[in-house]
Amino acid sequence: MVDAPSTAGAPRRALHRSPWAPTLLAVVLAVAFGVPVLHPAIGPVSWWVVGLVFVGGVVAESVPLHVEFGRETYAFSLMDLVLVIGLLEVGPFWTFVARTLALLVTLVHQRYQLPKLVFNIANGALEVALAGLVLGAFGSLDIAEPLTWLALLTALIASTLGGTLLVSTAITLTAGPPGWEFWRGMLATGIVMPVLGVGIAIVVLILVGSSAWTLVVVLPLVIAVLLLFRTTARVGRERRTVQQVYDFARRVEEVSPDEAGVRQIASAVRELLNAERVALWLPPFLEDGPRLVVVGNAEVPDWYAGPSDPEDPIRRRAVDPVGGGPVLVASATATDEESAALARRGADEVLGAPVVTAAGEHGYLEVCDRRSDLVSFEAGDRAALDAMLTHVNAAIRQQQLLTRIRYDADHDALTGLPNRQRLAVEIDTLLSAEPGDVRAGLVFASLDNYTEVTDTLGHAASDELLLVTAGLLREHAPPRALVARMEGGQFAVLLPGLSLPATERAARRLRDAAATRARVAGLDLDVLLTFGVAAAPVHGDTSGTLMQRADVALLAGHSSGGVASYHPVLDQQSLRRLQLGTELESAMAEKQITVVFQPIVDTRTSDIVSVETLVRWAHPRYGNVPPDDFIGLAEQIGRIGAVTDYVLDLALERCRKWLDQDIALSVAVNLSAKCLAEPDLVDRVRAALRRHGVPGSLLTLELTEGIVVDDSVRNSTVLADLHALGLRLSMDDFGTGYSSLSQLRQLPIDELKIDKSFVLGMSTSQSESFIARSIVELAHNLGLRVVAEGVEDEVTRDLLAEMGCDKLQGFLVSRPLPDDRLENWLLARTGVRSAAPGAPHRRLFVRS
Ligand code: C2E
Ligand code: CA
Ligand code: CA
Repeated sequence: MVDAPSTAGAPRRALHRSPWAPTLLAVVLAVAFGVPVLHPAIGPVSWWVVGLVFVGGVVAESVPLHVEFGRETYAFSLMDLVLVIGLLEVGPFWTFVARTLALLVTLVHQRYQLPKLVFNIANGALEVALAGLVLGAFGSLDIAEPLTWLALLTALIASTLGGTLLVSTAITLTAGPPGWEFWRGMLATGIVMPVLGVGIAIVVLILVGSSAWTLVVVLPLVIAVLLLFRTTARVGRERRTVQQVYDFARRVEEVSPDEAGVRQIASAVRELLNAERVALWLPPFLEDGPRLVVVGNAEVPDWYAGPSDPEDPIRRRAVDPVGGGPVLVASATATDEESAALARRGADEVLGAPVVTAAGEHGYLEVCDRRSDLVSFEAGDRAALDAMLTHVNAAIRQQQLLTRIRYDADHDALTGLPNRQRLAVEIDTLLSAEPGDVRAGLVFASLDNYTEVTDTLGHAASDELLLVTAGLLREHAPPRALVARMEGGQFAVLLPGLSLPATERAARRLRDAAATRARVAGLDLDVLLTFGVAAAPVHGDTSGTLMQRADVALLAGHSSGGVASYHPVLDQQSLRRLQLGTELESAMAEKQITVVFQPIVDTRTSDIVSVETLVRWAHPRYGNVPPDDFIGLAEQIGRIGAVTDYVLDLALERCRKWLDQDIALSVAVNLSAKCLAEPDLVDRVRAALRRHGVPGSLLTLELTEGIVVDDSVRNSTVLADLHALGLRLSMDDFGTGYSSLSQLRQLPIDELKIDKSFVLGMSTSQSESFIARSIVELAHNLGLRVVAEGVEDEVTRDLLAEMGCDKLQGFLVSRPLPDDRLENWLLARTGVRSAAPGAPHRRLFVRS
């Protein structure tokens, strides 16, 4: 029988040619040589020898012996011995008959496919014919004659070489020319084996010829030699397997954490088993669904259903939790169900085996068909696969571990959502597909009460709120959307394929869907989300610009009902606001934020009665930032309380210094709308007064008209409570709001400040002057003092004095001054009047 040596076997390149071509060649050759040589000899035939040749043939074919010399494997067979006996005792014809029958029995038993079966039988016939031809040339044969020995040896060498040539041609036809290793192996076998076979045969025949009893000695000897060979062969095969598995382990050591890594593993298995195709199926892992990787040459389908189908019979047998393990399914022995499974793969033989992932889940590995048509998988391959599985499992675990590390690097640990880096990569990948042409929407969503919840309820609570929000966004985002977690309370939703209007609609839908209450830390908290929208390509075509613009839009979203889209005019403004908002706290700590004081004088006496405290921010990059630019911002981001306390502190500190000089000069502090809603405002003001030791009567709080008449303020006791501290309440910017003077009657207000918009125009406009006059009169009727702010010229001052306005404030008197310059101003312009009888402190007056 022909068995191409496994290491010296077919080259890697597999050719897909019909196996019938070599078979046809073998049959033609066998007939050409066989017909002239093989015909029954005249005379009696010893049938027991024919039987012996048949039995010997069956044994020789079923027990092939592989012997390893160095790194090569040689097939050794008892066939030579059997042939010599047959040729000598019954002649070529009967030897051919017995041998062919033996071959037929073994090959059918081993379920050889028809072309291979016919090839091997024809090859056997050719070998016998060649041997017969040579023997015939030598004439009569006598076992005692050395010439006969030479004849036998030549016959066997000729027969082996003939067979080798035929096999090499067959390999060349089906799988390309064999390498020189094949020739080395085959030639060594072709010379060494006949010498051995002839030697043993001669000894046996001479011994048996002298006395049949010698068989009793010879047979056990031959059997012992046989067993010895088998053992050596097994050890050799195991050593070869270990070597292969070791090489395999080295190859899969450096797997990469992506699909290429899985492919690497499959390719290594394919190399090791010299297979047509290898498929590796792995269960879902992290963000990857189940995947199937198939490696093979270009002609095999990239994808076939078998390995990924849990109902597939081969896979089921291999991964069966009880009794599963490597299985070998060959078309010849397959059940109907298995044959269908093989057909589905277009394979003759499949080795299937379970693999185990890092999480302990089952995957499935399958190896299809040898790359050579003449050789099929053997039990030894199954053993190699078995030994290799440990390494495959280790490689899969390593591949998954690397994938996990990579996954962790671009995912948020809390929510499991992709993080900012990952979002940027996704955006760029999406947009670079067709630069300038791809549409995509980007929505930033920020949890308004995140900082508040963290500050008041702690991180565990805000984490819970984040998880709820992440869930809401994921649930309500369109199917193809990618939801990512940015830092803090900010999320992002990438919407591939959406235009700007479609993205805006999606953002509004998200806002409506997410506007709910969530049970967090035992409390029902609002999920308050603000959305900023940007879209590609209109707003940018890189992740950098798109994300920056969504950020800007988000800022605008705070002041426009929860959803805003990017617009170029937002840019400058918003970036600055963003910056200012984040720097507010540190700017106060670093004294970038300070106050200036603007004197307020008595209209009649010109005595300085008060100073108004006005906040200033000397920003290192933006220069002097006017209060109008950051007071509203501080209100929005919930830091106005801190700013108010800061200003109040500096004002009272100033007041305290004057008191220390025994001067009673009151300070005015502006109170923003939001401040009145703070439940602890009264306590904080009281504490500040106490801290600085300033009597309430020296503090004026200025409130803008709009907020004072707001229902919630009027219904609360906050104004009364403040008033109860002994301080004055002044209504700022009077005339810009819609309050009627009768409403004011019910409020604990001491003073009105006519808004500077009326005062500034008084000197030129009769109507403005008329409004001012009415305000003064009406206020006086209500028992309120009147202050005019924005007095810039003497005409206005005189008009106001004539109207009876009580106090004046404006550039005519002084601009707002920093502390030191105010001191100089006071020194230069004022004198000190002794305290009035009964009053504890002295008063400042303007020197004439
Ligand atoms: P306001 O309370 O009406 O303050 C008066 C504003 O008019 C000040 O502007 C002041 O510099 C300006 N002004 C004073 N005299 C004249 C004048 O003769 N002519 C003109 N054209 N303007 C004059 P400023 O300092 O820019 O403050 C603007 C606003 O910012 C203030 O208006 C006030 O509403 C708010 N603000 C300032 N400081 C604070 C503060 O500490 N807390 C709060 N909540 N708001 C403040
Ligand atoms: Ca004011
Ligand atoms: Ca004002």
